[in-house]
Amino acid sequence: MSRVINFSSGPASLPETVLRQAASEMLNWQGSGMSVMEMSHRGPEFMHILANTQALLKNLLGIPDNYAVLLLQGGAIAENAIVPMNLIGKTGQADYVVSGTWSLKSQQEAARYGQVHTAATSEALGFQCMPSQAEWKLSDDPSYVHFCSNETIGGVECHWTPDVGDIPLVADMSSNIMSRPVDVSRYGLIYAGAQKNMGPSGVTLVIVRRDLWGHALPITPSAFNYQLQAEHDSMVNTPPTYAIYIMGLVLQHIQQEGGLKAMAELNQAKSALLYDFLDHSAFFSNRVAPADRSRMNVTFFLRDETLNAEFLQDAEAQGMVQLRGHRIAGGMRASIYNAMPLSAVQTLRDYMFAFEKRHA
Ligand SMILES: *Cc1c(COP(=O)(O)O)cnc(C)c1O
Repeated sequence: MSRVINFSSGPASLPETVLRQAASEMLNWQGSGMSVMEMSHRGPEFMHILANTQALLKNLLGIPDNYAVLLLQGGAIAENAIVPMNLIGKTGQADYVVSGTWSLKSQQEAARYGQVHTAATSEALGFQCMPSQAEWKLSDDPSYVHFCSNETIGGVECHWTPDVGDIPLVADMSSNIMSRPVDVSRYGLIYAGAQKNMGPSGVTLVIVRRDLWGHALPITPSAFNYQLQAEHDSMVNTPPTYAIYIMGLVLQHIQQEGGLKAMAELNQAKSALLYDFLDHSAFFSNRVAPADRSRMNVTFFLRDETLNAEFLQDAEAQGMVQLRGHRIAGGMRASIYNAMPLSAVQTLRDYMFAFEKRHA
């Protein structure tokens, strides 16, 4: 059976070469006589895989030495609690910028662990833009300021690095990490689940500046204590070994393709193709403020929403799946992460053009 063009928001498409390599190594990883899934996490083979994945992360993102790179379980939703558990104890309060469903969820979870202040929100505008820097009103003494760099559901992306002075900046980068270069030194902490741009679900990347720890709330579970995990090289508990291995293969693939600069160019070209089409269409539209449109999740609506089912059905008949928007947002969404080739985005655009013509 041939493979579909998969526009899933996550878990999402992976590079086919990665899947093929994983398949070829499934029963016997590099002469070890074992599958990666069967290896002791403390054995020399897996230690090599872990070190390789960590080195690729540091190399691709240019992570400075004063940051710890953790590979944990729980996903970004668990981090919504783990971040405040580790960081909010410094002053007891934290600021949140709310630009969509995910950052709202982060804020609500954090409120269980301390005082939470909304520094800015675009909720009244239907989460169709990123609150500008000028709108951010920080509280007196926040332990950190949290924002989401790409709202996967609304299709809103922050295309600038916020400036919050000496206060640690915390970012949920789950859905746009590895899509372009990032100046890690501008952040106190970055977290991201792997299943959008880096690999399968099950592993969560946390990049944390070492001077931020030491304030963990006493209730913080050991497995979720950043300092403890850093001191044990993410092995306080058994790490998600197979997911870390696949992440390493994906990162190696990104490096071979030219690194994050090349990813940025490709993602810019792919998303521009769709937004240009949407802006010239009388049949489809995107509702996000042009300056804040996501390069990863392109959301759009049909003018006549009674045709939604037909649009999805015909797309599926042509091998394009998972275009339905999130139930909260409605409409359609094409998630076009790193692994989505330009040719697949062209195929979608051509399909949309033909559908529009047919229903004009
Ligand atoms: C997918 C996603 C999450 C949720 O990740 P889980 O793995 O389900 O915890 C959180 N934040 C953003 C921005 C996401 O895209």
